[in-house]
Amino acid sequence: MPADSLSTAAPPSLAEARATLERVWGHAGFRGLQAEVVAEVLAGRDVMAVLPTGGGKSVCYQIPAMLRPGLGLVVSPLIALMTDQVEALKQQGVAAARLDSGVSLDDRSEIWRAARAGELDLLYVSPEGLAQPHLIDRLHDLPLSLIAIDEAHCVSQWGHDFRPDYRSLGRLAELFPGVPRIAVTATADARTREDIVRSLRLGEARIVVDSFARPNLQLAAVRKENASRAKTDAAVIDLVRQRRGKSGVVYCGSRDGCERVAHALRDAGTNAIAYHAGMEARDRDRRLERFLAEDGAVMVATIAFGMGVDKADVRFVIHADPPGSLEAYWQEIGRAGRDGDPAEGITLYGPSDIAWTLRRLEGSPMAGEVKAVQVRKARQLFAMLDGAVCRPQAVRRYFGETGAEPCGVCDICQDPPALFDATVQAQKALAAVQRLGERFGRGRVVDHLLGKTKDAQPWETALSTWGVGADTALHTWRDVIDHLMFEGLLVEDPNEGKPLVMLGDPEAVRAVYRGERAIEVRRQPARAGASRERTRTGRNAALESMDADVRARFETLRAWRRDRAAEQRVPPY
Ligand code: ADP
Ligand code: MG
Ligand code: ZN
Repeated sequence: MPADSLSTAAPPSLAEARATLERVWGHAGFRGLQAEVVAEVLAGRDVMAVLPTGGGKSVCYQIPAMLRPGLGLVVSPLIALMTDQVEALKQQGVAAARLDSGVSLDDRSEIWRAARAGELDLLYVSPEGLAQPHLIDRLHDLPLSLIAIDEAHCVSQWGHDFRPDYRSLGRLAELFPGVPRIAVTATADARTREDIVRSLRLGEARIVVDSFARPNLQLAAVRKENASRAKTDAAVIDLVRQRRGKSGVVYCGSRDGCERVAHALRDAGTNAIAYHAGMEARDRDRRLERFLAEDGAVMVATIAFGMGVDKADVRFVIHADPPGSLEAYWQEIGRAGRDGDPAEGITLYGPSDIAWTLRRLEGSPMAGEVKAVQVRKARQLFAMLDGAVCRPQAVRRYFGETGAEPCGVCDICQDPPALFDATVQAQKALAAVQRLGERFGRGRVVDHLLGKTKDAQPWETALSTWGVGADTALHTWRDVIDHLMFEGLLVEDPNEGKPLVMLGDPEAVRAVYRGERAIEVRRQPARAGASRERTRTGRNAALESMDADVRARFETLRAWRRDRAAEQRVPPY
């Protein structure tokens, strides 16, 4: 920061901010609500900005920090994030530095010297760093232009990236009165937003929420027809192969899966790079560098990868396993197409995924209340994936955006799924699960509904639900039961590898019983037979090949389900 600006009385203007954006970053102008946010900070007011991933949140605090007198303090959750941003800023000639555990003592003294001399515009720190009293003391001696809290959703347990150290950032309000604070995030449903405002004491802040529309993204969700890893891997490899030469990200739910899929992709001739938290930091950095530098590189990663990764030309994001919530979904697919050119987001999901997600949440040490919210969020995600509402429209509504129009390019818009009213079937299925004492798997529940359980015992044939579903086809029953799982009306209890179907959220179950809640189920393409041939034309190529694959393995699946059901023929008493 040139010392003369300290004497400038009037706040810097938006025109100056625009000039800086052009001069330093080469961008022609602000986009979206950036200008509004920047104007607010330039005027010295608190602001919370909810802008989409890739929306350019960084410049919203970087530019005011450069133009306002004093040092801009940036709190950032990850060392990797800090390093990237600081290195990029330095290359652009911006006076920026970071203080983290990796910075040597000598470098530290140099940073403080520069800060005291007014030569530094931006200082990045971690929330843990800020917990150290001596750091706060030193900052007290300096004029601060602003305090920015990046990835502010980390403060909230309702968000999907909770960092306990973010919790204490609220005290910055008292420690540095009069210093404008700006919190930015891409992710905030109403509840998370409230939590951020409360925790960070941003009660007086202007809240700027941009549209979550990402019109260049073409989204699709593809149903996995069974829990077979090999099948899912094969599907992913096909999808990537059809996008040969393009840069992309494949998200996997586990480190093992990540290594396995990366390996298989390399065997298939793709430049695939595995990335997860089980790798050493230096190794991870190298992999990230390769991904950024090499053409057509595909990052196969767990969620350890991504926050703040700035690669503009990612052409696709494929979820080999679905994320945990709609926020996480939007953030992850949002890593595609940051340059504004067309990009795809394809999410594979199946009944075993929701079972796995719920099991993982069940086993986690979170507080009960938090867990309940996470469970609900997972269900909302799966309800969207298995739903029939335009993908972006569904997500934007979830984020509280009213008036979001159908996108016109997602799988739902291009090929609206045939729905049928399955309320009566749902009632029958829920009743059957209850009568059977919640101690059988889905195959057996279907057999019971059809009245087809081989060697059924008198106790079973005496139940009022025995055979009540004989008028409905076997494959329809499977669709209905899967959908009830996605909606959280049924849950699968793992029971050591033999999942048992149980009733889900009691209130929702009652609403269906009473006929207060209608259930609509998608006819699955592979099972609808000839009628779907007529509606295929608009589908994208990726889904075409998925469908063929699904059809081919349908018979195997049938046999597998039969076997599994047979194993479960045990009377309940
Ligand atoms: P996020 O909101 O996800 O933190 P970043 O701040 O990392 O986004 O910015 C994403 C990319 O968008 C960066 O490459 C940045 O330079 C670019 N960008 C930011 N503002 C603009 C703008 N007004 N016009 C064009 N590109 C921009
Ligand atoms: Mg960012
Ligand atoms: Zn759509």
